[in-house]
Amino acid sequence: MTTFDQLGLSSQVLKAIEQLGFEKPTDIQKEAIPVLLSADRDFIGLAQTGTGKTAAFGLPLLELLDADNPNTQGLILAPTRELGQQIAEQIELYSKYLKRVNVLAVYGGASIVVQMKALKKPRHVIIATPGRLLDLIRRKAVNLEQLQYLILDEADEMVNMGFKEELDEILKHTPDEKITWLFSATMPKEIKHIVNNYMDNPYEIQINREDRVNTNIAHQYVQVENKTKRDALMRFMDIDPEMRCVVFCRTRNDTQELAEALARKKYNADALHGDLSQAQRDKVMGRFKNHQLDILVATDVAARGIDVNDLTHVFHYSLPDEAQYYTHRSGRTARAGKTGTSIAFVNSRDVRKLKFLAKDLQIDFEQVLIPNSDAIESVRIEKWCIDVLAKHPKSNLDEELLSKALMIFGNLSKEELVAKLVARELEKVNTGDSKDLNQDFHKVQTEHRSKRRARGRGRGGRGRGDRDRNRSGNFKGKSKGGRGGSYNKSKRRKD
Ligand code: AMP
Repeated sequence: MTTFDQLGLSSQVLKAIEQLGFEKPTDIQKEAIPVLLSADRDFIGLAQTGTGKTAAFGLPLLELLDADNPNTQGLILAPTRELGQQIAEQIELYSKYLKRVNVLAVYGGASIVVQMKALKKPRHVIIATPGRLLDLIRRKAVNLEQLQYLILDEADEMVNMGFKEELDEILKHTPDEKITWLFSATMPKEIKHIVNNYMDNPYEIQINREDRVNTNIAHQYVQVENKTKRDALMRFMDIDPEMRCVVFCRTRNDTQELAEALARKKYNADALHGDLSQAQRDKVMGRFKNHQLDILVATDVAARGIDVNDLTHVFHYSLPDEAQYYTHRSGRTARAGKTGTSIAFVNSRDVRKLKFLAKDLQIDFEQVLIPNSDAIESVRIEKWCIDVLAKHPKSNLDEELLSKALMIFGNLSKEELVAKLVARELEKVNTGDSKDLNQDFHKVQTEHRSKRRARGRGRGGRGRGDRDRNRSGNFKGKSKGGRGGSYNKSKRRKD
């Protein structure tokens, strides 16, 4: 087993990470740290979020910096403000016992004037989102002439978010001799372009080569039509009240509506999306991190960079359009060596999308059913029994109190007492109604089709076209897929 002290790190850094409770290096840390510390060359790390990437580049960077040199020697570019802030926080923690290293995070959505003032002090490391950094460069508030290490974190996300031009522009303001470390979960062609144009013979490592998705995640799906999704989600929450999860929706509207519906039913939920101000988003995230909230309903964009280590579940309330979004979403759970569950809500139109995800990401999705009230009661009572069994009464339990309780219950048999306790416990269990929410897609599709046919007959010509096609069977798949796609596009605003 590799340990941190075999990686070539200084005693000060080892002390800091030991205090953070890092017991052994993660795969990417094992592979990257020795290379980055010793090799004077560019580097590519293909790894997901939650794999310990930040320490994988942050620890070597701290070791390589010269704290006596006031110039900016390290620049870390990150796609979002949240990620930038988290990187800065982590680097501060890792450098606790090192000679003063000045780190500053700059990002959009906050006062540029305050950031310009902060940049007047020497900053050994700047962590930035691309748009804001470019703004600061143009205002001559940042000097990158002495830069030695450029780190591109979540490079694929930066490109996805449309920062490609900003990246090209920023790179022009950095010296040619610098070393570049690029971290990305995927390697789309835009990243290859960056590698070919700006990197020199990079050393490349890939974590989870055969399985791009974190293997600690159980990937499940449930068949559920849109109108039943809300109730289905609540059933999953009822069966596991200790669940801490992010529920991903595609649009800001869906996100807000779902969070409000959950809150109305007394679930501990709130929404995170782009229509909220930065202050509101920070507040929601703060409550989620402090366990004041258990359920975060979020859009893909808003949820990027969420760094919460104890999420048990991720729900894909609607499936993402692209495989990498699935990876990013599900990677919010099972972080730092823990396990987690990702549950995709799949309606009859999504079946093909799920097959595509399974093939592209090489995931074996396991079908699960929406829990019914019997299952919820049974799981909850079993868990309650286990909790009761595990309870060790205090040795100094007041005898008088105990005999009083024994006297009150004295006439009851064991069966009667347990029945009463179970009944009482069941009152706390929210089972919804007893309806089975699971649907058979074949049936749903058939109903769907006959409804459309009926509608079509009413409308004359257009309907006949549909009918003819369905009868001939030729375009069955195509016509359905096309409809699903255009419905989504026309009715939904993406975040
Ligand atoms: P990252 O992938 O860098 O976002 O890291 C995910 C989380 O794992 C962060 O909260 C880190 O603090 C934590 N972490 C990183 N490395 C380790 C480690 N070796 N052992 C335990 N936790 C870690």
